[in-house]
Amino acid sequence: MRRRHMVSFKEHKQTLCGHSATEQEFRRMKMFADKDVTCKRCLNLYNAHLERSETPLETNTHPLKAKA
Ligand SMILES: [Zn+2]
Repeated sequence: MRRRHMVSFKEHKQTLCGHSATEQEFRRMKMFADKDVTCKRCLNLYNAHLERSETPLETNTHPLKAKA
């Protein structure tokens, strides 16, 4: 069974762990739910991404900082 990867947040037609994907694969990957991803590298990178982006939630009452 082929591993299911998560799509990269920045690169087009690339997985989160750095593999290149075809246009068709890329589109299909976008439709996968998080739980369907079986590539551990993708999951690790995704979790790290979530941890980093969770922080701003606690600062809801403060004005948002300008994005760099
Ligand atoms: Zn992967």
